[in-house]
Amino acid sequence: MSQPITDLIHHPYVAPGAFAAPQPGVFKASTVFFANTAAMRSRDWKHKQGYTYGLHGTPTTFMLEERIATLEGGSQCILVPSGLAAIANVNMALLKSGDEVLLPDNVYGPSKALADGELKNWGITHQCYDAMNPADLEARIGPRTRLVWLEAPGSVTMEFAPLAQLAAICREREVPSALDNTWGAGLAFNGFDLGKGERRVAGSGADVVVQALTKYPSGGGDVLMGSIVTRDERLHQQLKLTHMRLGWGVGANDAEAVLRALPSLVLRYRAQDAAARALSGWLRGRAEIAQLLHPAFQGSPGHEHWRALCGADGLAAGLFSVMFHERYSTAQVDAFCDALKLFKLGYSWGGPVSLVVPYDVASMRSAELGCWKHLGVLVRFSVGLEAVQDLLADLEQALAALR
Ligand SMILES: *Cc1c(COP(=O)(O)O)cnc(C)c1O
Repeated sequence: MSQPITDLIHHPYVAPGAFAAPQPGVFKASTVFFANTAAMRSRDWKHKQGYTYGLHGTPTTFMLEERIATLEGGSQCILVPSGLAAIANVNMALLKSGDEVLLPDNVYGPSKALADGELKNWGITHQCYDAMNPADLEARIGPRTRLVWLEAPGSVTMEFAPLAQLAAICREREVPSALDNTWGAGLAFNGFDLGKGERRVAGSGADVVVQALTKYPSGGGDVLMGSIVTRDERLHQQLKLTHMRLGWGVGANDAEAVLRALPSLVLRYRAQDAAARALSGWLRGRAEIAQLLHPAFQGSPGHEHWRALCGADGLAAGLFSVMFHERYSTAQVDAFCDALKLFKLGYSWGGPVSLVVPYDVASMRSAELGCWKHLGVLVRFSVGLEAVQDLLADLEQALAALR
């Protein structure tokens, strides 16, 4: 007879299989068991044919990986603990000492910090290119260029780059490209089929598509996670090997939270898009605002590229920026942000609560490229799921703080 504690740990009851319910279960494990030593020795961690160790996958993470690969229009997906970790994993898998990586000048800020820090320390150089000018990318690709990052719209300043043209240049020059598709969320356009001009062409996009699942796929403002999606099995295995050696796992509860949010992804994205356009349209008409930066609006930088890629009636994230008139000081715009009640001061986006962040644009772009000459303070809004008329009233009352 075993002791009660042993019976508790090695309980013989096995629940019946084939449990069917709307949401998959949460499988939590570091250790997974093997039936025998032969099974232990023959287990293949690289393919989803079984389980080896929690870091290499569980039913919960496999399920999420398959759904995100489908969302992005790819074949394989790797999950990592944040969007930034996805960027780092791609860099570490594809670059070595002596190589160069090219980043759009308006790239997600921490991506530049990684290039300026660790990548530089490891002997990997980088250059920033003007994402709005394909000739600039073309000119900067050299014999040491081993990776080009793509992103649209630009972080904070929202210029929409001609992604299809940029990806075509990478393809012609035989340099792998990786797209940060967080804004599009796999919904506004397909990162693997960017096409040329108005036409989408299969395989004309990026080789790797990453996303901060932290944003729209999570939708709650309460999960950090990233994804790395590919169509090419060899490339996937290269990224996966780096992922395995780095030991980047995701928590089962976090994976389940994203699985739970995915069925409402399209509804949330559309609702946040519509609300952001309503607020943008209203702000654009206000005398305090010098410029609206929202790719779906005519006159916003790169609007024509957004329209070519996403369609005239296409989707956009619920994210936009406005440039306040130069007559308003930083302190006045800060007072506007502080006066907002529903819009909270906070980073990130895609969650239920509307957010606002003031930025000093002049300090964010390299002077060398000089594509950004506006003065004035820029404020970025992320629209949540509150009622639009309440958000509009909040903006209106806060604008009074400028006076
Ligand atoms: C938020 C974000 C990231 C990073 O995601 P985290 O999960 O916060 O690390 C990367 N790229 C873009 C475009 C983002 O908006």
